Amino acid sequence: MGILTPKISDITDEGLSLSGDLTGDELGLTDADVSIRGTMSVGLELRTIERTIYVTGVMEGTAGRQCVRCLKEFDEPVAFALRVVYEREVKSTGLAGKRDGGRKKKVATPPTVEEEEQNDDLYYFTGDHLDLAPMLREQVILTSPMHPLCTNDCLGLCARCGHDMNGGPCRCGVEPSGGPFEVLRAMKEKLKDAGRR
Ligand SMILES: [Zn+2]
Ligand SMILES: [Zn+2]
Repeated sequence: MGILTPKISDITDEGLSLSGDLTGDELGLTDADVSIRGTMSVGLELRTIERTIYVTGVMEGTAGRQCVRCLKEFDEPVAFALRVVYEREVKSTGLAGKRDGGRKKKVATPPTVEEEEQNDDLYYFTGDHLDLAPMLREQVILTSPMHPLCTNDCLGLCARCGHDMNGGPCRCGVEPSGGPFEVLRAMKEKLKDAGRR
């Protein structure tokens, strides 16, 4: 569990590298979020600059998904890079009740990080350890497709008999595949997914 709870005092401006393999459980992911097959390999680089902790890293693994069209379960490789920022949660005097759970806001990337301009997700920490699991869990969820497809041109199920059209036409066969409503639904699905990228 060491990788998930680094000591703040170990994170210097020289940087601290962490890596390991973590299960969905360790990341706090339930199958209702994203179902991780085996473990996710996590590599993180943490650096403190003027009391702000900058975290960059990569996560890689395999997720079990269910196709929204044909309902087939399939495994999909997951690999993405993350960049987030941690700041110490300030106990605001008098406004204690107003803290919104200490959750994410967007902050501008400071000039010390000179890559492409990008807003990093902001998280807060208290005490002398970071708790990375909630952040990693959230990053996995954020990068997961809202409408998983087993293949981009999955034909889905016959609206009448439930036959998996990927395996060839069914006996309902009177109408050409799907019918107007099915075609419309598939188009909407495509638009939704295109809009997310
Ligand atoms: Zn499918
Ligand atoms: Zn059918």
